[in-house]
Amino acid sequence: MDRFEAPDFYQLDDLLTDEQKLIRNSIRDFVKKELSPIIEDCAQKSSFPKHLVKKFGDIGLFGPTIPVEYGGGGLDYISYGLMMQEIERGDSGMRSCVSVQGSLVMHPINKFGSEEQKKKYLPKLASGEMLGCFGLTEPDHGSNPSGMLTHFKDMGDHYLLNGAKMWITNSPLADIAVVWAKNEKGRVHGLIVEKGMKGFSAPEIHNKWSLRASITGELVFDNVKVPKENLLPGVDGLKGPMSCLDSARFGIAWGAIGAAMDCYDSAKRYSLERIQFEKPIAAFQLTQKKLAEMLTEITKAQLLAWRLGVLKNQGKATTPQISMAKRNNVNMALQIAREARQIHGGMGITGEYPIMRHMMNLESVITYEGTHDIHLLILGQEITGIPAFK
Ligand SMILES: Cc1cc2nc3c(=O)[nH]c(=O)nc-3n(C[C@H](O)[C@H](O)[C@H](O)COP(=O)(O)OP(=O)(O)OC[C@H]3O[C@@H](n4cnc5c(N)ncnc54)[C@H](O)[C@@H]3O)c2cc1C
Repeated sequence: MDRFEAPDFYQLDDLLTDEQKLIRNSIRDFVKKELSPIIEDCAQKSSFPKHLVKKFGDIGLFGPTIPVEYGGGGLDYISYGLMMQEIERGDSGMRSCVSVQGSLVMHPINKFGSEEQKKKYLPKLASGEMLGCFGLTEPDHGSNPSGMLTHFKDMGDHYLLNGAKMWITNSPLADIAVVWAKNEKGRVHGLIVEKGMKGFSAPEIHNKWSLRASITGELVFDNVKVPKENLLPGVDGLKGPMSCLDSARFGIAWGAIGAAMDCYDSAKRYSLERIQFEKPIAAFQLTQKKLAEMLTEITKAQLLAWRLGVLKNQGKATTPQISMAKRNNVNMALQIAREARQIHGGMGITGEYPIMRHMMNLESVITYEGTHDIHLLILGQEITGIPAFK
């Protein structure tokens, strides 16, 4: 049974509107009812719970900030962040599925797509009738996507796409892929590639120890004929995929708090129930130090995320600000997962508790959407004006 109780040490609920609290609570209830009972088994078996895709759509998890006329929620960014927090409290792999669909597939179609593309894809993506994926990373180009080799040629009445993408969340099951590729002039553009197009395949990547309940794969393009109307008309250059990543990283900054809260909550309860030396282990100062530090770090991360949400709602959140929150909050969650694992002793390595699953999941979250070190370099560039990437 999921006995989760969220910490709110600085009464941050007072900063939320009634609507934001309602949305947060509805996702919290959904996670307790639909996700928590099955997620451990899915992770152990490395199986993606496909049946949840439609339910995620029904509850509004896909594209909460996309306008209502295209099937989205028309919500503000703090509501979106709270939704990501709650779903990642359940599992980072489920938040990954939702983030990709909303921020990396629906967002670029909404922002850079034609009216026809928006009408064709967004409502189905919002409802969960369609699943999407986002192809930027390549086998030889991860942190440096500008070096990408995937490319397309203008063949007059269509484009011819060749290349490969790696580490693509949702890809083996996706109905569409938003793929970033270079044209003959070397400029990056977004193409919508549909399942079933000749020469397009999406093999699954097996044997992950992290995000085991999420499905990950490759994208392979072997002379794929892509109709011209599938090019996203409103963007030219790497700023296209980068702006999508800003939106997804914002969601991760909130999501990681959810994973941290779950680890803290479990550690607190366990420490009060577990007796050693005739006392609950919560009575020992060393355990109290761990719990006090966890709560402090969660509270700081909550404040960072909330303020970033306010800035994002005002259209003022910058890429380095988002980098700071993603970097800090994911690292915070990973450290808390490790401390929580210690508090659970041997039980901490079992599937009886969510700790080890969160910890392994967070090892991907700290790497994808810009590694921990790449976000540090983004901040370093912001501070000094000097890029240290090369
Ligand atoms: C489970 C999972 C799901 C993913 N989902 C998606 C997805 O849906 N779509 C997508 O496009 N991608 C996805 N990714 C890819 C992810 O974004 C990349 O793994 C990430 O960007 C890092 O790239 P890389 O793995 O090639 O590592 P590399 O870029 O090879 O980095 C390896 C190490 O070198 C360091 N490094 C690299 N450059 C520098 C530098 N200039 N200075 C200092 N250190 C440096 C990095 O910080 C890192 O520690 C996913 C990855 C995972 C693991």
